[in-house]
Order: sequence, then C-alpha cells, then structure tokens
Amino acid sequence: MTLRLTVIGTGYLGATHAACMAELGFEVLGVDTNVQRIEELSRGELPFHEPELPALLRKHVASGKLRFTTSIQEAAEFGDVHFIAVGTPQRAGENAADMQYVDSAIASLAAAIRKDALIVGKSTVPVGSSRRLKSIIHDVAHHGAKIDFAWNPEFLREGFAVQDTLHPDRLVVGTDSPSADQKLRQVYAAALRRDTPYISTDFETAELVKVAANAFLATKISFINAFSEVVEVVGGDIRTLADAIGHDARIGRRFLNAGAGFGGGCLPKDIRALQARVSELGLDHTMQFLNEIDEINLRRRERVVHLVTEELGELPGKTVAILGSAFKPNSDDVRDSPALDIAAKLFNAGADVKMYDPKANKNAAKRFPRLNYCDTLPEVMEGADIGVLLTEWDEFKMMKPYDVEQQVKQKKIVDGRNVLNPQEWKDAGWRFTALGQRTEAP
Ligand code: NAD
Repeated sequence: MTLRLTVIGTGYLGATHAACMAELGFEVLGVDTNVQRIEELSRGELPFHEPELPALLRKHVASGKLRFTTSIQEAAEFGDVHFIAVGTPQRAGENAADMQYVDSAIASLAAAIRKDALIVGKSTVPVGSSRRLKSIIHDVAHHGAKIDFAWNPEFLREGFAVQDTLHPDRLVVGTDSPSADQKLRQVYAAALRRDTPYISTDFETAELVKVAANAFLATKISFINAFSEVVEVVGGDIRTLADAIGHDARIGRRFLNAGAGFGGGCLPKDIRALQARVSELGLDHTMQFLNEIDEINLRRRERVVHLVTEELGELPGKTVAILGSAFKPNSDDVRDSPALDIAAKLFNAGADVKMYDPKANKNAAKRFPRLNYCDTLPEVMEGADIGVLLTEWDEFKMMKPYDVEQQVKQKKIVDGRNVLNPQEWKDAGWRFTALGQRTEAP
C-alpha cells in the first residue's frame, strides 16, 4: 500500500517537503492555519521565492497528487504519515525557541487521529522536545489509534530546497519505534536506493544533530569574520587567508566567506535557542562560546554602518543604495537579514536609503516600509552617494563599474560580501572598501 502523507505547516520547509514528496509519487495533503497561504498553494501559486519549487507545485496540484487544506481533521483522516513542519521562532524578548506552534499542531493532530499513523517532527526543536511531545501524544490520543512517533530533522538550504529534499546528503531519524523507522525507510526509499546515509538513532541525538550542524556553520562564518576584524587593523587580505586555510581538507573552504555575516530564519535563532536550552539543563558555560559567535556576527553589521558613515562623513542628506535585502541569494527570506538590519540602522541614523533586491523587495517592505524600494539595479544606484552590496545575488556579483557609473552621484562602493574584484573597481576610479580589508583614509 502506498503511504499517504500530510505536511502540517506549509512555509519554506513544509511547502517544499510536500511538493517533493508528491514528486516522489506520494499522495500529499498540506495543512496550514494561514488561510490565504492555503488558498494560494491550492491554486498552485507559491507564496515565496524558491527556485524549482513553483514548477513542482503546479505540476502536482494539477495532477491531484498534492492538495492543501486548513482542516487538521481532514489531515488526520487522510494521512498515514504526518510531517510536522511548523515554525519554531525565537520567543519575544528571550533566546529560547517558541514551541507553541509545534505543541499545538501535534496535540490537535494526535487528538483527531482515529487510525494507526506515524507523526514525524521536522521542525528544529530544543533537545528533549520529542520525549515531551511523545507524552502529549500519549495523553490526547484516541484509544483506538496506535500513533508512532519519530524526529526527522531537516537540513535543506533555502535557494536549493528542492534538490536538497529530493537528494538529501543524509537522513537522520530519531525514534524508539521500529515500525516508525520502517515506515520512514519506505518514505525515503528513493534516496536509500542511492545509498544516501540513513542515520537511525534516539530522539535526543536526532534533535541535537540539527542544532549542532547549525552551531558549527555559524561558528565557521564568525571564525573568518573574527579574522576580518584583525585584517582590518593590521592589513592583509581575508579572501586569500580563507582560500589558504580552506585548502586544508580538515577545514574546507565553504562557509568561510567573510562578510556581513549570517542571518535568516534558522542560524541566529537556532544558536540562541541552543544556548537557552543548555542553560536550562544547568550547563551554563557549555555553549557560552555561541554567545561570542552571535556577537561577532552582529558586530559585522555595525562595521558596515561604520564604514558607510566614515566614507560619507555624515549620513543626513546622503543617499545610500543597498544592493540586496534577502538574508542570502536565491531566496526572498528577510528574517533576521543582515542587509535589512544594516539598511534600517543607516536609515535611523539619517541616511536616505534606497534598496533593491531581485526577489525580496516585497518581504523587506513589509518589515521596513519606510525605505525607498527600487525595481532595478540602475534605479537603486541613481543619485547614490555610496553603493553597499549586502546580498551576493549573481546580478550584483557580475556588476561592473561601468554598468552603474552613469547613475551614481559619487563613485563609492562597499562590498559587504567580498564578491567584487577590488582592483577592477579601483582601476575604474571608484573608492572601494570591503569587509576584511584595511581601509585607507577617505
Ligand atoms: P515558516 O514560518 O516559513 O512556516 C511555518 C508555517 O507553519 C507557517 O505557514 C505557519 O502558518 C504554519 N503554522 C503555524 N502553526 C501551525 C499549526 N498549528 N498548524 C498548521 N500550520 C501552522 O517556517 P520555516 O522556515 O518553514 O521553518 C519551519 C521549521 O523548520 C522551523 O523549525 C525551522 O527552524 C525549520 N527549518 C527551516 C529550514 C528553512 O530553510 N526554512 C530548514 C531546516 C529547518
């Protein structure tokens, strides 16, 4: 019998998972409490930007393999395996993760299930959550229903979400139920046939794998950014430094790109939630270094504001063109985006801030409506006293000095992602500054 799947929570993770599971041949029902989102998805319209996903969504909405609903009751009746993909944002005013959405989704689903089923958590949660949730399921479950439970953290990257879901580099499943494990092997059979590593473990390890991976990646980024701070004082070239240490296979070059630091809906809140959880467990010092990782990351944003201020002398009356608002390229996600944060800081300090992102203008404008949003690169550079590249979209990486020199008021550029060729810009008569490079006096 082919398993029928549901995905509860159809944001960046859930909508991707749902469409990819349909692509693998399953019948899938996506569930969300957000009515507008469900209406859009049901029409085959993706409410956010993710490469390759619109085509997959349209294909499987049209084929009838993929449907959407707001009814948890319908999901409980339909599904054999239910994936939980709701948000776990940072709690307001605290570092800890807000578990209310996971708790409520699982409790309402478990209470509605009337047949044998498997609930699989995919959201990123504090260690210890699975056991707590398992006891909630036990408390609310109907007597006639046997509900299995597993935690299966998700490692997809926005911008590559479809490929990461269809071709994951590993699968991690935490459970104490052999039948849950067996069902998930059925769900992931296509990946298993390609010998994708499948790590079957306990709940705690599965939960920790996800936050450990994110803590490691955040550390790598802040590590190179800490060296940027040194290079900015003594001189040197951070890109060469990263290339040179990156040749060591034990270190590796990826995630060693010095720049305005990490952001998004995962890394920042996940390292904070990990610290909070570990403190709750009485291990106050164990993850304290993550506080430093966070601080280094946030200091990079201040550094960009400082560089721009130094270059312009004063901000009021000056026009700053910000290139990019998404937290990374190929995404429209502006959650905790360094670019948007820096833009807001410059605006609040009196600059006239223009902003252009190939995909994220709409989301950025929702969060910070007071900036002057532009639809093209030439438009954002028009009249600019300085350009500041903060999201490394290809369009910006490929930008040449002569592409924009007619538009700007002053030929000044700050490369906040270390993706432009400094010599090219300097040779074209631009004042070029970047993170991780010592700046000569303006
Ligand atoms: P998101 O905010 O884009 O989506 C969450 C969705 O859940 C929203 O559409 C919301 O309306 C819905 N929701 C909330 N409560 C619900 C309920 N009770 N029933 C049904 N729907 C409900 O978040 P996201 O980026 O997709 O992240 C979801 C989880 O996955 C988080 O824990 C995140 O850390 C984790 N994760 C995200 C990514 C990523 O790249 N975005 C990668 C790996 C893991």
